[in-house]
Amino acid sequence: MFSVALDGPAGAGKSTIAKKAAEKLGFIYIDTGAMYRTIGLACIKSGIDLTDAQAVVGMLPSIKLRLAFLDGEQHIFLGDEDVSSLIRTEQVSMAASSVSSIPQVRSFLLELQRGFAKTDNIIMDGRDIGTVVLPDANVKIFLTASPEARARRRTLQLEEKGEKADYEQILSDIIKRDYNDSHRETAPLRPAEDSILVDTTELTLEQSIAKVTEVIGERLK
Ligand code: C5P
Repeated sequence: MFSVALDGPAGAGKSTIAKKAAEKLGFIYIDTGAMYRTIGLACIKSGIDLTDAQAVVGMLPSIKLRLAFLDGEQHIFLGDEDVSSLIRTEQVSMAASSVSSIPQVRSFLLELQRGFAKTDNIIMDGRDIGTVVLPDANVKIFLTASPEARARRRTLQLEEKGEKADYEQILSDIIKRDYNDSHRETAPLRPAEDSILVDTTELTLEQSIAKVTEVIGERLK
């Protein structure tokens, strides 16, 4: 099996780029952020205080999380409910960032994540894929862009969907999530030593997809 670890901060375009690159290469795309988001959502639904690690850990046994691939798209289920769209709010982003710093939450997801690399050719995106989840991945890419470029893209995305977007708020959330993700004790966001850095600040989406596909293609030869 061939595995690609794609890590990087929030809003660097990982999921869009990974999805397209996976399509081109005939690989399966696995979005690990969606798993943390679903746990965050489960806690919100149950009214659990996200800063109360014990309460969050207590919830884990009741969380039935499942991935399904419908028309090549990853869908994530919490119990019987498809929560793929529900998890894409700023509130759930911050909840995911909060629960992801709890070591038991990370180990709860680890085996599920590793399982995919055993059975399929995959591109897996997240924060700790190259460092913790798949340390032996065939290719490790660290995808980044300046916080301002990421906030601008996110603002545009929301505006295109006809949703309210406040650039300053989005920028401050991105900076806060970067800080949380890279300063937590367990599996902090950092490039694996053997990762290839791809900075998309000055690249268009098409150029970023081409670059990532090229980097993977080089290793597939
Ligand atoms: O990638 P996405 O923005 O969907 O991830 C949501 C949050 O989940 C991140 O801010 C991060 O805190 C957490 N996460 C993580 N490890 C991963 C993927 C996501 O800690 N492998």
